[in-house]
Amino acid sequence: MTLKNYDIAELRRLDVAHHLPCHQDHKLMQDLGGARIITRAQGSTIFDGEGTPLLDGMAGLWCVQVGYGREELAKVAYDQMLELAYYNTFFKTASPPTVLLATKISQLMGGNLSHVFFNNSGSEAVDTIIRLARYYWQLKGQPERNVLIARNNAYHGSTIAGASLGGMSHMHAQGGPFVPGIEHVMQPYQFNEGFGEDPEAFCQRAVDAIESKILEVGPEKVAAVIGEPIQGAGGVIIPPEGYWPKVEALCRKYGCLLAVDEVICGYGRLGQWFGFHHYGIKPDLVSMAKGLSSGYLPISAVGVADFIVEALRSVSDDFVHGFTYSGHPTAAAVALKNIEIIEREGLVERTRTDTGPYLAKGLAELAKHPLVGEARSVGLIGAVEIVAEKGTNKRFGGKEGPAGLIVRDLCIKHGLMVRAVRDSIVFSPPLVITHAEIDQLVGTIRKALDEALPALK
Ligand code: PLP
Repeated sequence: MTLKNYDIAELRRLDVAHHLPCHQDHKLMQDLGGARIITRAQGSTIFDGEGTPLLDGMAGLWCVQVGYGREELAKVAYDQMLELAYYNTFFKTASPPTVLLATKISQLMGGNLSHVFFNNSGSEAVDTIIRLARYYWQLKGQPERNVLIARNNAYHGSTIAGASLGGMSHMHAQGGPFVPGIEHVMQPYQFNEGFGEDPEAFCQRAVDAIESKILEVGPEKVAAVIGEPIQGAGGVIIPPEGYWPKVEALCRKYGCLLAVDEVICGYGRLGQWFGFHHYGIKPDLVSMAKGLSSGYLPISAVGVADFIVEALRSVSDDFVHGFTYSGHPTAAAVALKNIEIIEREGLVERTRTDTGPYLAKGLAELAKHPLVGEARSVGLIGAVEIVAEKGTNKRFGGKEGPAGLIVRDLCIKHGLMVRAVRDSIVFSPPLVITHAEIDQLVGTIRKALDEALPALK
């Protein structure tokens, strides 16, 4: 078999024989006889080995902002590979795409986020944030400031540091011990953790949880507070109005750094370049990946505020951190072109003023469905909560999980790729999605809910 000439049944057999996929039940994958082989994609649609089209409601894994099949991106990678496929940034060296991309990202972030550190994945970006935040305080003569505060049910990646910083209990149950010096507090998930509570009171409770943790740890020991502007993998948890400015104020009050993990929210997902723009806050450290290259090549970055850079430059010593592929010229060239496409096609503004509101309108109708407890979105990221009893947050069988999987599988059966997070159906389609495709997305979820109803009741 070759890449030009393969047999799907044989690929599935080889998949079981040799491939371990991510975040999977490996016994189930074996029982299923291997993965569904996705062979090609165009625009917002992926195709499997049988030629079955699926509307990609997940933009791959929250990342393919500009859609699939962009010749320009392939061309820029081809050209850059011939010119300078690879070089490192360890030897007092850099390449043109690396420097130009750092400049572009700094401009997009704005404010005092003047510098960029490159990595390959979101997880590595998060590792960089942890090390950089702690090292910053060492440089400032406060090495005891080494604790990071994150939220329960946050996702910050799968490296040992990313999994430690994330707040997912099922991840913490595997492969520990984890990185010390990390504390978790309640997430601002009103539907599950403050149902029926006054939103302002709930917001204050979620903010107070952070303040209490800062005081419990001791403000002089807190290096940073970190969070995703909207928790993506946790179930598209949209914080209540006013949450982020209040968290920012807490960081300023106690002098700790504010870090935001923009791996999902960055690059237009919320209708602004970054989630922190949407929420009107000014973080000190910003992780980003996914939409930075629309997933065409692996690349991630950390935006760094200028006062942190000044601290790095206040000593004649290496910050001993970096990756072979940091600032990879080919990945950087693709990311630059990807940003150019997003700008040229006005995809951020379109998400804010056109497709985002159009999706929200569709979801508002869907929210009337008897199985829907809440349908929420910002820009082109959203979730639909499945409930057993309309007007409550009661789940089928008294526990979360099974209903979500039933509805997700029905969505996939009817040609829409979405994800189930407990009993939420979550989606984040490519930013090029059309109105007709949004109708299809919302309509397919409705159809799946209708079909699931008899099985669930
Ligand atoms: N941070 C956030 C907010 C994410 O959503 C993810 C991945 O989904 C990561 C970090 C980890 O990124 P990666 O899978 O590229 O390591």
